[in-house]
Amino acid sequence: MLLELSGRHLQSLSVPSEGPFIGRICEDPHAPEAARDREILLLREASDTLPEGFRAYLLGGAGSYEGGGSNRRGGGASAGGAPRDMYRLGAAMRYLAHGDVVRIDPRRGAIAALYRRSSPSNSLLVTERCDNYCVMCSQPPKTHDDAWLLDELRAVVPLMAPETKELGITGGEPALLGDGLIELVRLLEQHLPRTAVHILSNGRRFSDLAFARSLGRVGHPDLMVGIPIYSDLPEEHDYVVQARGAFSQTLRGILNLKRCRVSVEIRFVVHAETYRRLPELAHFLTRNLLFADHVAIMGLELTGFARANLDTLWVDPLDYREQLGEAVHHLHRAGMNVSIYNLPLCVLDTSLHGFARKSISDWKHTYFDVCDTCSAKTACGGFFASSSLRRSRGIRPISLP
Ligand code: SF4
Repeated sequence: MLLELSGRHLQSLSVPSEGPFIGRICEDPHAPEAARDREILLLREASDTLPEGFRAYLLGGAGSYEGGGSNRRGGGASAGGAPRDMYRLGAAMRYLAHGDVVRIDPRRGAIAALYRRSSPSNSLLVTERCDNYCVMCSQPPKTHDDAWLLDELRAVVPLMAPETKELGITGGEPALLGDGLIELVRLLEQHLPRTAVHILSNGRRFSDLAFARSLGRVGHPDLMVGIPIYSDLPEEHDYVVQARGAFSQTLRGILNLKRCRVSVEIRFVVHAETYRRLPELAHFLTRNLLFADHVAIMGLELTGFARANLDTLWVDPLDYREQLGEAVHHLHRAGMNVSIYNLPLCVLDTSLHGFARKSISDWKHTYFDVCDTCSAKTACGGFFASSSLRRSRGIRPISLP
């Protein structure tokens, strides 16, 4: 399933607001009036009248407005009685549904899905700044001030459904927010106490014990920080992340977090600059970081810098099966909780199938045509949409026993 999460998919049908605003999709025209000012009514069927008081109105599918009632909040009815902030929603984003949270930018005619209630793959982008510059970064860092992202999340989090199973916090480097990150985790703990939170971080900022302590003190019941280590050799890790001294800071960060009772996941992306020492890294982890809560070894996403450096970084997963197998079995034998992400079953040795997870986010996940005849398709995680740039010679339908 490939989804567009944002784009210029709105056609204004009435007087628009001047600036961007956040709202939650509502498909119930009879929603309590007191709560309507933060709800955006989505109508899929034609309607003669519109209930008053919603923050905005989206007409999707066969939905149309024939005139009649109005939304007079703020005196906003335009000529002809149409409420203000009424838009026709483009087909690409008609997957939006009750409970989703969106940002509408009337000036650009743009809409962005910030949270999808039915998705297991919601991530909160908190900054695009980063103090690493990884050679395969899928989201290359930017330097501009993007503090508004956190401001926006303060409004978005209270609109999310309490039954949300998991949320990611991603960047950039989320820990660069300092106290802002602590505040966000506290906000999530207050509004979504049953939601697991997974922060993707390079770990360096947590080398400051006081900062690690403030995260631990939030006392979030289900929090994990995922931190990459790309080699057992400091200079190799520092090369991959393009930051001298990063290996040492990252290790201290991991130790500090565990000391403050925060769960830690070790992450490793396999590519041409990292795969050869994967077995040595596994031994390093079992000797020094046996207490880590999870180890995720993952295939390369061919986007961002990975795409720009494709010729240098690409290695067919068939060509690192030996190193991957040795590392995974060693970690498993030592009692570490290990998973393989982002690699289809047909490129893995069958002894590794039990470690493979369906890890690719729903909105950028796909299969190739050959997968249609594969009996393993429902168990297989498939591909990133970007995977068509390079294709493993091992992709072929398989039969599961
Ligand atoms: S053929 Fe497709 S569905 Fe089957 S294991 Fe390979 S990638 Fe997965």
